[in-house]
Amino acid sequence: MKILVINCGSSSLKYQLIDMENEKVLAKGLVERIGIEGSILTQKVNDEKYIIEKPMKDHQVAVELVLGALVDSTHGVISDMSEISAVGHRVVHGGEKYDRSVIIDDDVMNNLEECAKLAPLHNPANIIGINACKKLMPNTPMVAVFDTAFHQTMPEHAYMYALPYEYYEKHSIRRYGFHGTSHKFVSLAAAEMMGKSIEDLKIITCHLGNGASCTAIKNGKSVDTSMGFTPLEGLVMGTRCGDLDPAIIPFLMREENLSAEEVDKVMNKKSGVLGVSGVSSDFRDIEAAAESGNHRAQLALDLFHYRVKKYIGEYAAAMDGVDAIVFTAGLGENSKESRKEICKGLEFMGIEIDKEKNNIRGKAVEISTDDSKIKVFVIPTNEELMIARDTLELVK
Ligand code: AMP
Repeated sequence: MKILVINCGSSSLKYQLIDMENEKVLAKGLVERIGIEGSILTQKVNDEKYIIEKPMKDHQVAVELVLGALVDSTHGVISDMSEISAVGHRVVHGGEKYDRSVIIDDDVMNNLEECAKLAPLHNPANIIGINACKKLMPNTPMVAVFDTAFHQTMPEHAYMYALPYEYYEKHSIRRYGFHGTSHKFVSLAAAEMMGKSIEDLKIITCHLGNGASCTAIKNGKSVDTSMGFTPLEGLVMGTRCGDLDPAIIPFLMREENLSAEEVDKVMNKKSGVLGVSGVSSDFRDIEAAAESGNHRAQLALDLFHYRVKKYIGEYAAAMDGVDAIVFTAGLGENSKESRKEICKGLEFMGIEIDKEKNNIRGKAVEISTDDSKIKVFVIPTNEELMIARDTLELVK
C-alpha cells in the first residue's frame, strides 16, 4: 500500500509518498511560492532532485504538478495515480471535535471550516489542500491527522485558563496544544527503545525546532503541553515569545500605539530568540554569534534553555515523576550544546547526560549515563510517517 502524505501551508505544500510495506519514502517534495511569482516544485527520489518551475496559481495546480511528478516516466516513482491507496493530510486544528485522526467526509469538512476560526493562518490552507486532492482523486480515501488531537486527553485543570468561564463556552478559549503528531511519534519510539509499554511510562518530550513545545505524557496520554490556545504559548521559539505576562499586551498597545494585529505580529514574528538576540531566528546563527562573544545571542540561548528546563521540572511535578526525557526536532536532534545546557543541574532529579553519547546529531540514541535514573533520548521526529501510519490504520 502506498500512502501520500500532504502538508499544506498558505503558499507551500510538502509531500511524501511512503510505501507502507516497509515504511520506505519513495519520493518527497516541496512546492513553494504557490500563488506567487516564482512557483517551484522540488522532488527528491533517493538523492536525485527533480525541479519544476512553472506558474502555480493555486493549490489545485500545485497538487496536479505533484501527482504529475510522482508518475513522471523519467523522474517519477509510480506508473499510475491509482497506485496511491490513500492520502493523509496534516491538519493543524481539530478543536475539541477530534481526539484522533478521521476519514474525511462532508461532515468532517464542515467541522474543519468551523475550526478555521481557531487557526486562521493554518486551517484554511489545509482545507484548500484537501479540496484540491479530492477533486483530482475523487475515489481515493483521505484522512485528516490533527496537530491538536493527541492533546485532547489533557485534563480539564490543565487545559482551562483562569478567565471567566463564559469565554470558554462562547469562544472555545482553552489550551489545545500543537505538534501532537511529533510528540506522539517520539514518545512511542522512546518506549520501544526502553523495551517497555508506553502504558507504564511517564515521558517528557521536548520538540525544539523553530516552533517549540514540551509535552507531559503519562501512560501514553498527553496530560499537559506548553503550547496553548495558539502555538504562541510556552517555550521561547525562533520568532515567538512564548509565555509572558498578559498585561504587557495592553501596555504595549498604549505605549507603542500598536493595534491588536500589530502586537500579535510582534509576539509571533519579531520575538523569541530573534527578538532577544537581534541576530537571527536560526539557532545555528545564534550559537555562532554567542560563540564569538555576542552577549544578546548568549542571552537568547540562556533564556531558551532556562524555559525548557523549567518546563521539564514543571512536568515532572505534574506527573508525580518522570522516566524519560526525549529531545527532537531541528535543535533537539542536532544541538548537543542545547541538550547539555537544558539538563545541566538536573542531576538532583536523576537526570545525567553522558558527554560522549550526547555528541551525536540526528540519530535515535540514548544519551544518558548508565546510572541515570531518568533516561534521556534523542529521537528524530517523523510526522509524515506518523500521518501515514494513522492513515493506513483507518483505511485498511
Ligand atoms: P525545525 O523547525 O524542526 O525544522 O527546526 C529548525 C531549527 O533547528 C532551525 O531554526 C535551526 O535553528 C535548528 N537547527 C538545525 N540544525 C541545527 C544544528 N546543527 N545546530 C543548532 N541548531 C540547529
